[in-house]
Amino acid sequence: MTMANLPDAPWRHRPGLEALCRLLGAEESAVRLVGGAVRDGLLGLDVNDIDLATRWAPQEVMDKLSAARIKVVPTGIAHGTVTAVLDHRPVEITTLRCDVSTDGRRATIAYTDDWREDAARRDFTINALYANPLSGEIHDYFGGLDDLAGKRVRFIGDPEQRIAEDHLRILRYFRFLARFGAFPPDTAAYEACKSNANSLMALSRERIADELVKLLALPDPSPVLHLMAEGGIFAPVLPEIDTAGVQRLDALLQRERAARLVRPPSPILRLAALLPPDQTTGEQVAARLKLSNKARKRIAAALAPPPLHDHPRELAYRLGTETALDQMLLGAAPMAEDMAALESWELPEFPIGGRDIIALGLPAGPNIAHLLKVVREQWIAEGFTGPERAHAIAEIQVAKLLRERQNS
Ligand code: ATP
Ligand code: MG
Repeated sequence: MTMANLPDAPWRHRPGLEALCRLLGAEESAVRLVGGAVRDGLLGLDVNDIDLATRWAPQEVMDKLSAARIKVVPTGIAHGTVTAVLDHRPVEITTLRCDVSTDGRRATIAYTDDWREDAARRDFTINALYANPLSGEIHDYFGGLDDLAGKRVRFIGDPEQRIAEDHLRILRYFRFLARFGAFPPDTAAYEACKSNANSLMALSRERIADELVKLLALPDPSPVLHLMAEGGIFAPVLPEIDTAGVQRLDALLQRERAARLVRPPSPILRLAALLPPDQTTGEQVAARLKLSNKARKRIAAALAPPPLHDHPRELAYRLGTETALDQMLLGAAPMAEDMAALESWELPEFPIGGRDIIALGLPAGPNIAHLLKVVREQWIAEGFTGPERAHAIAEIQVAKLLRERQNS
């Protein structure tokens, strides 16, 4: 077995964390760090979410924390989780447990005081590492340290059985593979995911969407998405996503890198790239996945046919900067030469109003709105000129209209 210690890092000294761990008996191994914090901490990555596992029953944890005046919320007490709030940030504390029975979606649990049993109910070996929060000593029951070093995402136990217990693990598998895995991946795991892809239909669309969005937010989800599309993982629940979709995503990823934007890549836009380039399909999928209104609108706007012949700034002015950048990144509109400059460009305000037109001698009435539109189009076509030129355009257009009237 590989020996290792959790490297020291600022997150381990987050205000209140050491005191909390002492309170719960870290010295006697009654509480340990677990999951993502240990895995990411071992890799020297930044740790945001801290999970603790403890031998204490949830109510005992609540009582101990309350007595020490640490804020604690019973966030998931039915399955053993309470959340301590340290310095306005959550720390999840879960009582050691094992799954008694499962139906693919949820588990009936029992508490245990056996660390190995708690490890065995977790999904992947690299997610079942524990660390003493004070000394950093690692406890590894299923070879997670070796797998982490070897970039192997491996189910604990038989992949088929672990997927039957909880179908979401199929998607979690691909997400962790994209983050920590080497290619080609473990055949047994991939085969089990493929042959059980149909079981994803039993999951709620929200949970599927949540996992997919997390996968799409990773720096390079492409190799894993190819694997998923080729393996037919999407066919039962998202038949719209095929290999051609992943190729469109590849093109988007390439443009994202070239664009060098300040905004982080959007998983929602990446999802739009995976779908057939058609607004109606985009809206249907967004509705099926129960995405937020904001996400649904973003997909619809990104997949809408772009106005013809617009220069990048025109597109940004007409559609809003986000949609314009989205359409360029999707390849629907030509990319601006300097995407970062377009991103930081402050949309100009049209400097002419109805009053200006009336002041130029055009009588109030429906003509005003029409004339404003004509002036605005010319102002846009001339490249959003300053107020002086905009006024000159208005003057010319009003004079022209008045002349036309006289002649008719
Ligand atoms: P992330 O950085 O994505 O949050 P994480 O490892 O912390 O990674 P979580 O989803 O926050 O992942 O879950 C915390 C831990 O709980 C996991 O490391 C794993 O041990 C366990 N776990 C979570 N979901 C499952 C599941 N569906 N089946 C088995 N174990 C799970
Ligand atoms: Mg986590």
